Amino acid sequence: MKIGIVGCAGRMGRMLVGAVLDTDGVDLAGATERAGSDAVGRDVGEFLGRRQTGRVIDTDTLRLFEVSDAVIDFTTPAASVEHAGFAAEARTALVLGTTGLSPEDEAAIRDAAARTAIVCAPNFSVGVNLLMLLAEQAAAVLDDSYDIEIVEMHHRHKVDSPSGTALGLGRACARGRKVALDEVWCKARDGQVGARPRGEIGFATLRGGDVVGDHTIVFAGDGERIELSHRASSRAVFASGAVRAARWAAGRPPGMYSMRDVLGM
Ligand code: NAD
Repeated sequence: MKIGIVGCAGRMGRMLVGAVLDTDGVDLAGATERAGSDAVGRDVGEFLGRRQTGRVIDTDTLRLFEVSDAVIDFTTPAASVEHAGFAAEARTALVLGTTGLSPEDEAAIRDAAARTAIVCAPNFSVGVNLLMLLAEQAAAVLDDSYDIEIVEMHHRHKVDSPSGTALGLGRACARGRKVALDEVWCKARDGQVGARPRGEIGFATLRGGDVVGDHTIVFAGDGERIELSHRASSRAVFASGAVRAARWAAGRPPGMYSMRDVLGM
């Protein structure tokens, strides 16, 4: 099967091209970048310091969708909304890892999923998807006398906050407690904010260095504290998960799928 990569010069884009080239049974259909990127016009393998692939990086994204069985997109919210439209037009499966999507972006992507298969996940690692399941179970067992705080740290270049994964973990905890996350979340605290309301799900964000992605969910009760943590030390875990999702999604009926569907969890 043929997999296309959009945004191939990004931190994740490079890992994704490498993962496709290193996976048996899949071929690289092509790779794109935004107009104006230095990468445009170069052989994608050579650009990554590997062997030539005969695939030149270009900006014709619709064409990439037309020649691919699945396309993987870790770019920006605006680009991903446009790409979801191309996926629907070409009826090509889309694996979408971009975070920081607004409710309007999510609605546009859901519309596109009426015409093609889209796997959307804030985190494609197997470990984090297991953590989400554990977080939901823990939140269902521990009542709201246990305060839930989600702490995350990422590299200094990350532009959205809290991370998509932290919000996904918050959503999992809210599901466990049978509440809506946006009715109980506190995404930042500053100044005289008063005592912590019972049932709140809080987020704390750290940014710095080259941290790939650390997440901890704290359940703080009276006299005890439970912490569930995941630390990613390489972006390769997200890339291999996304390639696995692309293989799973190609040829599936239209619909919005999650990494849980891919992993059969
Ligand atoms: P990055 O800035 O390094 O890469 C983004 C790339 O997309 C850039 O090279 C940019 O030029 C390119 N791009 C932008 N618009 C484009 C367009 N219209 N067409 C083609 N290419 C375009 O960012 P990154 O660190 O690689 O992260 C990208 C996204 O993936 C972020 O939202 C990040 O949070 C998310 N992410 C998700 C996961 C996950 O598992 N779901 C893991 C890591 C990162």
